[in-house]
Amino acid sequence: MEKPAIEGGKPVRKEFLPFSLPWLGEEEEKAVVAVLRSGWITTGSKTAEFEEKFAKSVGAKHAVAVSSATAALHLSLVATGIGKGDEVITSPYTFCATAHVIEYTGAKTVLADVQKDTFNIDPKEIEKKITPKTRAIMPVHYAGHPCDMKEIREIAEKHDLHIIEDAAHAAGTEYDGKRIGAESEAACYSFYANKQLTTAEGGMLVTNDDAIADKARSLRLFGIDKDAWKRYTKSGKWYYEVKALGFKYNMTDIQAALGLEQLKKIEEFVRLRSKLAEFFSRELGSIEGLTIPRVKPGVKHGWYLYPLLLNLDELKIDRAKFIEAMAAENLGCSVHFVPIHLHPYYAQKYGWTRGDFPVAEWLYDREVSIPFFPKMSGQDSADVVEAVKKIVGYYRR
Ligand SMILES: *Cc1c(COP(=O)(O)O)cnc(C)c1O
Repeated sequence: MEKPAIEGGKPVRKEFLPFSLPWLGEEEEKAVVAVLRSGWITTGSKTAEFEEKFAKSVGAKHAVAVSSATAALHLSLVATGIGKGDEVITSPYTFCATAHVIEYTGAKTVLADVQKDTFNIDPKEIEKKITPKTRAIMPVHYAGHPCDMKEIREIAEKHDLHIIEDAAHAAGTEYDGKRIGAESEAACYSFYANKQLTTAEGGMLVTNDDAIADKARSLRLFGIDKDAWKRYTKSGKWYYEVKALGFKYNMTDIQAALGLEQLKKIEEFVRLRSKLAEFFSRELGSIEGLTIPRVKPGVKHGWYLYPLLLNLDELKIDRAKFIEAMAAENLGCSVHFVPIHLHPYYAQKYGWTRGDFPVAEWLYDREVSIPFFPKMSGQDSADVVEAVKKIVGYYRR
């Protein structure tokens, strides 16, 4: 049996392959340079154009461009009036941003455990967590697999709750034949460096609710009138009023120019991601010791990540050792996510410990995000498969 590099064997490849890399081309370079030369670099016409095209691409009424998905999520909560004394239900299996925004408003973070097959919030667990104080549900479309929105919408309707979707992973995701956001009260996309579509940093609040869109447009720039950015144009007026305690959450035209170019390529990016996922699943699906990601019928997966699960009872190593072994083969891996309730801030504030959200913990102990991005070459993806097979083969019980 071939020895893994961590045991002194020969590494699968010489050059390190990171877990993720953005795909930026000449088009992005040209678009950014054009903005730099235009004399108008912050929020302006490019941002407005990006909003219009993004809304159209997902089939939603409004899109409000902001500085991050975190900002979009925070604004959604503020725009729906959520604050102190309220409770918001979300998934423990997410990035800290999802819970942080609830904390920013002064509301209480309530967690409902996830489903083993999709890593997504379990509607049955949501129902158990509803109290008279519950005001909203924040589903997270993990890795780009849509949540069970039909069930979640039924619960929200029954209890008169808002639904604010963390769509940070959902570029390209479809549910019931429609893109995430097409039927949403609020869906928040991320354009962080390693997301499917990037503006380096950036986010989009997609909504079909006129009032949320109006409030978000004002709140993203200090609570000034919604077209505040126009005050320096020829048609602009110097006078403005602050009508609410808003934030500095606007997107720049440099970011929007990047986003406009990336938006043209998103279908292709997601197609390549699905192809890569198919390849990994075909190659790794029958390997003892591994569980590949599942896709529920009737949905379109956006494939932000390829979350592989290690069957720990069939292996002699744990997830941490597996990632070290992959690094020795010159392959970068990551983990998505450390569950919310295990972070010291949340554990201390809410008294949460291991055992409180058993499915999230079960997934956390086993999940490895292997290198996964559309710019990977055939050799890169073959190397990943070879290394995974070598390590799992060597350490199988
Ligand atoms: C990336 C991410 C965010 C935050 O996105 P930013 O644009 O970096 O603020 C929120 N939720 C999830 C699940 C994420 O992965």
